[in-house]
Formats: sequence, structure tokens, C-alpha cells
Amino acid sequence: MALGEFQLIERFFAQSHVRRPETILGVGDDCALLAVPAGMALAVTMDTLVEARHFPVDTDPCDVGYKALAVNLSDLAATGAQPAWATLSLSLPEADEAWLAAFSAGLFGLAQEHGVELVGGDTVRGPRVITLQLHGFVPPGAALTRKGARPGDLIYVSGTLGDGGAGLAVASGGLACAVADAAWLRGRLDRPTPRVSTGMALRGIATAAVDISDGLAADLGHILERSGVGARVELEALPLSAELLRAASSAQARQWALTAGDDYELCFTVPPEQAAAVAALPVLCTRIGVIEAATGLRIVNGQGQPVTLSATGHDHFSGQQ
Ligand code: ADP
Ligand code: MG
Repeated sequence: MALGEFQLIERFFAQSHVRRPETILGVGDDCALLAVPAGMALAVTMDTLVEARHFPVDTDPCDVGYKALAVNLSDLAATGAQPAWATLSLSLPEADEAWLAAFSAGLFGLAQEHGVELVGGDTVRGPRVITLQLHGFVPPGAALTRKGARPGDLIYVSGTLGDGGAGLAVASGGLACAVADAAWLRGRLDRPTPRVSTGMALRGIATAAVDISDGLAADLGHILERSGVGARVELEALPLSAELLRAASSAQARQWALTAGDDYELCFTVPPEQAAAVAALPVLCTRIGVIEAATGLRIVNGQGQPVTLSATGHDHFSGQQ
């Protein structure tokens, strides 16, 4: 039985499991009314997931709901912001109750973990497109940005890189490997771990930060450009998971680490005297290079020889998907 727009909203999206004390009015009126705590800036980010473009058509709807929030949490993490509120624009071909139940379970499960309250949105009929906007709090002076890296700063990444690219290859049938590794890699694509607490812990430590959605080379490139500096990155220092190294050659793994998207790890820079603070973080962060005054990204092999890349990252308008 097809649900009407209002029944659908009431049934699946009016029951946010999280209630924040700063929310004056949530879902159900023309606007939500929200009070930003004194001394905090509102950090606002938005990401859109288009079916078949940003997630494979066979993706579990629970993972689609999870990922719609996870990719936005990753942006707040890169800003060092604490998540607070989400709004959700849903375009769906039909009111498929099983799809909506799984989607909202994936979304609210992750929302609860991070104290995110859904306070509004819009629901329309159309191709399956999910747009989520996320709001968070950060003291304005403590926000991490892409600007601020200085020559001599060390470059770090959280977690492991290249798993998202390998997961996409698994999804498209382009990577033959052990079943358990394939499932783990696909899980990294569908359920990335947003590094929210790491981002908040980097306030006052990192000089610049970005989350890796389009590949390390492209996203580190944003820090370099905004900071007016360059970098030297050691190819062999890139952190790769055991699963990825079993599934693919190290050359392929490094290529994915540098240029494939969907890892949602953080890349950040710190002055050398903060190296001990980074080592003390609960999430493994690996030093991969150093910021230099000369602009441009230089990737070097174990012998210090320059390595050239065939592609520098994912760009929706470059003609290549
Ligand atoms: P309006 O016509 O004033 O834009 P709607 O009828 O679209 O209002 O929405 C009614 C209420 O439901 C609003 O509070 C809106 O924020 C909320 N809402 C609509 N769609 C969603 C959704 N997908 N998720 C969360 N809240 C939603
Ligand atoms: Mg509306």
C-alpha cells in the first residue's frame, strides 16, 4: 500500500531517537527552531547521494541511510565540530515501506551514536536522491580548516586508505579476492567510519585538516592550495589495510589510496612538536609526509625518487566517473 507524503514523514522521520536540549522546535512545523550554544559557531555541511553514482544500485538501504549521514559527519570531523542537527531531503521513486524502514534504521542508528537530531526535511517523488545537511558546534577560533598548513608541518592520515576504492571494485565485480576480504572492503565503502572524535581531539593540535572523500592526492591538494604550500608524501608510508593488501597488488592498493574516493579518513597537518599528541590519539594516525614551501604535491618512492600519478582524484565534472 502506498503511503502518502505526510504518513511517510510521520512514520519514518518524525521520531528522531535523539532530542537535543538546544532544539526549540523539531520536525512538524514550517521551520525548525534551533538555539546555538553561546560561544559556538554553527558548522554547516551538506552532501547529496545519487543512486548509481554515489552508491551502487544493489546497496542495502540501511547502508544508504548510514552513509548519507556518515559522509556529512566526516565533514564535521574535518572541521573539529561536534554534530548536533540534521535535515534530510529525500527524492524517491515510490513510497517503498521496506526501503524506508531500512534506510531510516541505518540513518537513526548512526545518528544516535553521534547525538544527531533530525529536525526537518523535504520529501518528493523523483529519482532516488538523498541530500542530508548536518549542523554542528565548534568554538570559532578552534575550527579546523584547509588553510593553515606551514612548511615543516608533518602530514598525517587516520585509519587506512584505498579500502573505499577496493570496495567499489568489489561492488562492480572488478576485484576477485577472498570472500571475507571482499565483504570487509565492501563494508568500508558502504559503512565508512566518520572520525568525529579524532577531529574534535585535533582542535588546537592540527594546523589544517580535510576529510578524504575524493582520494588523498586531491584532498591533500585542497590543503596545499588553500594554505599556499606544497608537500612531499612517501608512497610507501601510506597506511594500507591487511585486507586490501591480500586483495590487490601493493601498486594497485597505493593507486587506490592516492586517487580513489570514499575512504572518509582525515588528512591533517601538525607542527613537529605536536607529534606526541597525535601518537596519543585513540585512532591510529600515520605520518605520511611533510609540508614544504615549494608549491605542488611531490610523491616519492622508498628511494626518494619522484613517482607520477595517472589520475589525481575523483572530479564529477572532469568527464570521467
Ligand atoms: P512545507 O510544505 O512547509 O515545506 P512539508 O510538508 O514538506 O512542509 O514537511 C512537513 C514537516 O515535515 C516539516 O517540518 C519538514 O521539515 C518535515 N519533513 C519533511 N520531509 C522530511 C524528511 N524527509 N525528513 C525529516 N523531516 C521531514
Ligand atoms: Mg515540502
